Amino acid sequence: MHNQNKISFLSSLVSSGNMPHAMLFSGTDRKAKMGISLGFAKFMLGGTEMHEGDFEEFFETGCECGVCMSVDKGIHPDLTVLPDYPVSIGSVRDLKKKFAMSPFASYMKVCVVEFAETLRKESANAFLKLLEEPKGNALLILIAPSRSSILPTIFSRVSEIRFFSSINMSDLIPEDELERCNQEIEVLERGEIQEKFAVARRYDLKNKNELASLLDVWLMRLRDKFYKDDSANAAALAKRIFKIKSITGWSNASPQLLLEKLVLDSE
Ligand SMILES: [Zn+2]
Repeated sequence: MHNQNKISFLSSLVSSGNMPHAMLFSGTDRKAKMGISLGFAKFMLGGTEMHEGDFEEFFETGCECGVCMSVDKGIHPDLTVLPDYPVSIGSVRDLKKKFAMSPFASYMKVCVVEFAETLRKESANAFLKLLEEPKGNALLILIAPSRSSILPTIFSRVSEIRFFSSINMSDLIPEDELERCNQEIEVLERGEIQEKFAVARRYDLKNKNELASLLDVWLMRLRDKFYKDDSANAAALAKRIFKIKSITGWSNASPQLLLEKLVLDSE
């Protein structure tokens, strides 16, 4: 199992007693990120009272104690999962209120933010307060496609654990190139139009391979969004990306112009 080392790492973090209060689970393997974060939430909420042994063993064998069952049913009072896309300022405010109180059933509180990359402006500012002034026993797990997809102010306050899909992107694409792709995709999705065009200008017939990596990483990231309600937009974008991929594969059409068209079509 390729995420085994993440599980062992989390396991050793708990035993070391040096658990960070905020973690970023980054990477393209959304299923693994969610599965392991909920498993970890269960393990921590149950504590040593319910869960003997380490997290690695716990995750492998599974558990059906009352705590774990209530997490599965989505009714554990000390676990908050923020599934909204984008994260709204309202949910962050509710979360802050919850985190200001002491735990109800467990000895700690846990929050999983499913789309931490959507924390922007007001929601990010409110969330930063939580990160800066952790109250009592609290654990925040942020899930995002990459470190560059979340705001630097947030990233600087979390410990990152990286996940990759079974098609391991880091095997296919060197780490620094993966990081570059992620940064450019952020701009292409969310930047100002001038910034988007500046990215497009970087591509010509000489660096077709780099463009191919960019498009592959982009498609991989979009897969995450198919799980959410903006899946129609994600699917439309994915179709356009596939089209560029195939056109650049067989023709000498200008990659810059194709990217510019994609940007304009998505405005
Ligand atoms: Zn349990």
